Amino acid sequence: MPELRKIIHVDMDAFYASVEQRDFPELRGKPVAVGGSSRRGVVAAASYEARVFGVRSAMSSAAAAKACPGLIFVPARFDVYRSVSRQVRAVFARYAPFVEPLSLDEAYLDVTESLVEGLSATEIARRIRAEILQETGLTASAGVSYNKFLAKVGSDFRKPDGMTVIRPREALAFISALPVEKFHGVGPVTAQRMHAQGIRTGADLRLFEEEELVRRFGKAGSYYYRVCRGEDNRPVRPHRGRKSLGAERTFESNVMDVPDLLLRLEGIAAKVAERLQEAQLGGHTVTLKIKTDDFQISTRQTATPHLVHDREDILELVTLLLQHAPGPPTRPVRLLGITLSNLRSLAQGPPPEQLKLDLGH
Ligand SMILES: [Mg+2]
Repeated sequence: MPELRKIIHVDMDAFYASVEQRDFPELRGKPVAVGGSSRRGVVAAASYEARVFGVRSAMSSAAAAKACPGLIFVPARFDVYRSVSRQVRAVFARYAPFVEPLSLDEAYLDVTESLVEGLSATEIARRIRAEILQETGLTASAGVSYNKFLAKVGSDFRKPDGMTVIRPREALAFISALPVEKFHGVGPVTAQRMHAQGIRTGADLRLFEEEELVRRFGKAGSYYYRVCRGEDNRPVRPHRGRKSLGAERTFESNVMDVPDLLLRLEGIAAKVAERLQEAQLGGHTVTLKIKTDDFQISTRQTATPHLVHDREDILELVTLLLQHAPGPPTRPVRLLGITLSNLRSLAQGPPPEQLKLDLGH
């Protein structure tokens, strides 16, 4: 029998909203929605006080304000969230050789071979949560188990500021009692369909053959068949097979002037470089996206044999893309975006070399 893995899923509690409550004490204990103050906006995150009223992320601001009359909208500060995220990842890096970030506030850790010898996975999770709290002032929840599915379910189980350990011998009983809507990968629509078919818990799911679950729920049926038996072999993958990484900006007023456009590109390039740095990735393909005032979107792309990852290299390439044939945009620009694709790990690749541009001019 192969050795059981030790997987931890760590999830910051109401992350953006908690950062705002940390930094602005007047928001503590109050229903807070991050983002979405404009009429057509969407809530990016909600504090637990707001969740009591049913406010959720991705909800329209109008619906959120209606659900929770005293709701306080605060603007998102992604630079701050990213820097806290870096602190959190630095904590992970003390213990886990393999970390797969799912977003700024959530990651899987494989600690089968811990970086600190002699610690159980449970002890590692306990220390990680304590160090995150000490260093960022924020709480995180964790799930500890032998695969991703159970670790993820575990981190959600006693949220906020909770931890759940699911040992192999406890897994089947745990899943049996678990409502299907708590299964990661079962969305609200699927949960409703399952309920309509009398499937309410993991134990109910286990009554079906794989073919039957596939017939009823499509390809995901195979996944449900396995996870309701506590089986999930997905590895913790540090780069998650990410295909591209980028950033874009919509301008408050349209921009026509080329020097002004280049100035805007500087800011976007810096953002993309920061994200690449965070993910420890570089890219071989750079794409510039241009949206003009008539809402036409065009893209211009260049590939290089060198791994592009820092701000200067990105800026140099997109500057050329902007000015190169067919020339600078002839209409006012609403939006610029930069995307890097064909990504490679900075750690694994050869050291980045001096960039040589070949755009055929
Ligand atoms: Mg979270």
